Amino acid sequence: MLYTTMHYKTIDDIDVQSKRVFLRVDFNVPLTKEAPYRITDATRIKAASPTIEALRKRGARVILASHLGRPKGAPEAKYSLKPVFEHLQEKIGSAISFANDCVGAEVEKQANALKDGEVLLLENLRFHPEEEKNDPAFAQQLAKLADVYVDDAFGAAHRAHASIEGITHYVSVKAAGYLMDKELKYLGGVLQNPAHPFIAIIGGAKISGKIDVIQNLLGRADKVLIGGGMTYTFLKAQGKEVGKSLVEEDKIELAQSLLAQAGGKLMIPTDTVVAGEFKNEAEHKSVSVNNIPPDWMGVDIGPETIKQFTEEILKAKTIVWNGPMGVFEMSNYANGTLAIAKAMAEATGKGATTVVGGGDSVAALEQSGLADKMSHVSTGGGASLEFLEGKTLPGVKALES
Ligand code: AMP
Repeated sequence: MLYTTMHYKTIDDIDVQSKRVFLRVDFNVPLTKEAPYRITDATRIKAASPTIEALRKRGARVILASHLGRPKGAPEAKYSLKPVFEHLQEKIGSAISFANDCVGAEVEKQANALKDGEVLLLENLRFHPEEEKNDPAFAQQLAKLADVYVDDAFGAAHRAHASIEGITHYVSVKAAGYLMDKELKYLGGVLQNPAHPFIAIIGGAKISGKIDVIQNLLGRADKVLIGGGMTYTFLKAQGKEVGKSLVEEDKIELAQSLLAQAGGKLMIPTDTVVAGEFKNEAEHKSVSVNNIPPDWMGVDIGPETIKQFTEEILKAKTIVWNGPMGVFEMSNYANGTLAIAKAMAEATGKGATTVVGGGDSVAALEQSGLADKMSHVSTGGGASLEFLEGKTLPGVKALES
């Protein structure tokens, strides 16, 4: 089992009985485009429910706070948390109430009127521009609502906003919720004390978004396996022809220096699926990376690479994966990504720790139906990427005692 060397309290370490608990959650859920707005995927709400339920059971008075979408610092019906309130009402009934704002005298009254086990959901934090500005006076107003601060919003931990960072300066007791704790244990554990062999698999569209992740992981992992669109910039850096494949010309030099610095740790595909056009129905075939035809483009890793990557995965004790191996949204080019998901599921079954970092790799994993076969699937796209880059997330730093 992984553990992290970060020091923070969890809700199990603090007294919450009859306390007003400000619980920062990530309820940034997708809604229907037109009114009446309805939630189309409640995964994020479900992910926070163990923390909410534990707090309620222990007699806390829970004040839920979240952002939703990108309102411009003022109320907008399409970004209201009302649909979340209605969803939660179906789950927990009359124990939950809604506040039309997140600060102010009226909200304070509602917070103070809460009984043990009851829940108050605040309106969207980002209806106030001060939230994203980490305004101290606004953070103080939020802090006034509660006795205890709990952060369970890992997906927002890379933002130094008032409800994530500022507020922690004005509450005496702060702790991580269960979701935050799980994210930190797995992502932190992977970086701080992985069981070896430790391999990282990095894919996705471009090198540019993942340079820092590759660099950080090269310093920690035994091998870094490369797939996805960034493959072709690496191949070009090795002097190979890549036809019409995605290439970041301005990153070729960087790819060369990463290859030199890696000293054999970087595994670049040896074969690739190429397509005549960027279409699922286009003519396609597998070729060696030494023989990419001029008018074709690379869209997936090839069968030989799948075999090599699978062998590495099955030898490993710790595996972290971020980014698809090909254009997985097109079924003909999803094989490489699916094969990685399958190999990781098998590795988990053999006792390896497998961690999938947010964003598109999670979508690909959902598509494969293997998400529950991983040790941990991160709920935070941007946050997990920044974490894997080795950055200290403001929301995590704020919790550390
Ligand atoms: P990212 O957000 O960086 O993880 O990139 C994910 C996107 O990369 C997905 O939409 C994939 O379709 C895309 N992608 C993966 N492989 C390729 C490729 N060979 N060529 C173009 N796009 C790709």
